[in-house]
Amino acid sequence: MSPSLTDRFGRRIEYVRLSVTDRCDLRCHYCMPKGFKDFETPEHWLSFDEIERVIRIFGELGTRRIRLTGGEPLVRKDLSELASRLASLPGIEDLSLSTNATRLARHAIELKQAGISRINASLDTLRADRFKAITQGKLDKVLDGLMAAKAAGFHPIKINMVVMKDVNEDEVEDMVEFCIEHNFTLRFIETMPVGDTGRSATDQFISLNTVKTSLAKKFDLLPATMPGGGPARYVQVAGTPLRIGFITPLSQHFCDTCNRVRLAVDGTLYMCLGQNESYELRPLLRTGISDEELKQHITQAIELKPERHEFNEKPETVIRFMSMTGG
Ligand code: SAM
Ligand code: SF4
Repeated sequence: MSPSLTDRFGRRIEYVRLSVTDRCDLRCHYCMPKGFKDFETPEHWLSFDEIERVIRIFGELGTRRIRLTGGEPLVRKDLSELASRLASLPGIEDLSLSTNATRLARHAIELKQAGISRINASLDTLRADRFKAITQGKLDKVLDGLMAAKAAGFHPIKINMVVMKDVNEDEVEDMVEFCIEHNFTLRFIETMPVGDTGRSATDQFISLNTVKTSLAKKFDLLPATMPGGGPARYVQVAGTPLRIGFITPLSQHFCDTCNRVRLAVDGTLYMCLGQNESYELRPLLRTGISDEELKQHITQAIELKPERHEFNEKPETVIRFMSMTGG
């Protein structure tokens, strides 16, 4: 029988979201405060050797999928080198990347060559002034990055749009047209009360049921599936290849099928985006434990995985920002 990590609720954990940095070159208002600089010190970052070791052990425990995230993963120097080391680990079948795309124009080709198979990119608006207001950054760089990723042959490219009331909800149809034009997949996300920044966006929360109902008036939406689709529920726009995913942690949570844990840049293993259960791996790695002991610690850590988040009932639970955990 192949090895596997199973939590107390019978969920098989076979997916690690790996935050390679908590830094970012943008400041999306729902994620990180404007001007924020209080980042993890470099001595606390797991080195590439440490990351490779932890992921190798996860692979031996049945993990098949890794996603590089952050913060902005491309802010970490030599990310492609890390990617190629992880892609060649036994058992790791799928290595993907979540990025804000600002640096993709420079790195798309080397990331593809390194073995990244799929890219998810954040894009909440197609208007430069709004982009600036939401992220403090420049839209052009992101669009250039997306086109470079397309030219480098990444497929699918999934666009993640956090839909917010009175901020960008009026651009949902434009984003559908944009994704049809470029053959991207589109995913809508509900704002989550993670950190003060996430909670401050609570008044911009809009249920994706509302978004879906209004889209259905304009487009013919057919039920669909998507390989590696995670928690998103998909539809296809009739007459086009476009698939649209709805990620609804608040209006319809998906915790019963959760298959993931998150490893932060400082070596903390977080069991749930919406809870505080965690396990410190860095001190163990730096005191020279054996692979067998590391396996036991990871297995023990999985025991802590909570049944579900409580974003609706206890929105004050998580004080860390999304960028610290690795969204
Ligand atoms: N920097 C990369 C990016 O933006 O794609 C990767 C990390 S980012 C934390 C991952 C995802 O988390 C992005 O799609 C972002 O929109 C989402 N996110 C961050 N804060 C959020 C919040 N409070 N509610 C919902 N989604 C959030
Ligand atoms: Fe940076 Fe991504 Fe957070 Fe935006 S959502 S501030 S791009 S980490």
